[in-house]
Amino acid sequence: MNDALVCEDVKVHFGGVKAVDGVSITVAPGSLCGLVGPNGSGKTTLLNAVTGLVPLTAGRITAHGEAVAGRTVPQIARRGVRRTFQAIRLLSTLSVVENVALGADDGRRLLDGLLRPGRSARADRVSRELARDALERVGLSGVGDRLPGELPYGHQRRVEIARALAARPRLLLLDEPVAGMSVEERREIADLLLELKAEGLTQLLVEHDLELVTRITDHLVVVDFGRVIADGNPDETVRNEDVREAYLGR
Ligand code: ADP
Repeated sequence: MNDALVCEDVKVHFGGVKAVDGVSITVAPGSLCGLVGPNGSGKTTLLNAVTGLVPLTAGRITAHGEAVAGRTVPQIARRGVRRTFQAIRLLSTLSVVENVALGADDGRRLLDGLLRPGRSARADRVSRELARDALERVGLSGVGDRLPGELPYGHQRRVEIARALAARPRLLLLDEPVAGMSVEERREIADLLLELKAEGLTQLLVEHDLELVTRITDHLVVVDFGRVIADGNPDETVRNEDVREAYLGR
């Protein structure tokens, strides 16, 4: 079986800034892989490269055996690669269920439904059904008709995860999904990610909370200055000298 994600010597340079500078990572199907590193070490840029938001300067990325380079963001998304963003990106004037429905089929069905009422009513219904399933999956089945701004912050984060889940992805990339959350909310999200893993979803988790990451991941990759400095078993990896220095030494 193909690995869910393979990055081979990936470089993303912005002029003289070497945001990602030769990263190789393999994420096995069904695994929950952590990606950690100090601020500015290139984690978000790598997720952007995997999802097609920034072009590669060099290297190769494949998701489930298919090359990502040269494909657009929607093309990559349609191949089952979905993500959440560091900052919450929900549309404030759409209901929660409509926001989540935008994640099903890139929102095309929902937009069709809004722009051509009647003609696309069925497509719209499919997106909304997928959205309601995803909301139920993240424990928010009762809030579909509310506006995102009416929900507590921790629930807005879950709505984002639901939007990524609505298209039933094979690979989910999570960019700091527990940032700004309470200890209790963090635990709930950690439990949700473990449940998704138990259902077979492959995940790559970017997160600052090392305690949480080492507790729930199978495999941990540490980057610093755009390069991998450690890769392996989470408990052993966080004890690595280079990793301790990257985190504590400056
Ligand atoms: P992390 O997610 O680990 O905090 P980032 O991937 O956001 O790190 O950033 C890595 C480096 O790349 C930083 O120095 C950042 O300023 C730079 N960078 C990221 N995106 C761009 C961009 N679009 N243009 C120029 N520099 C960028």
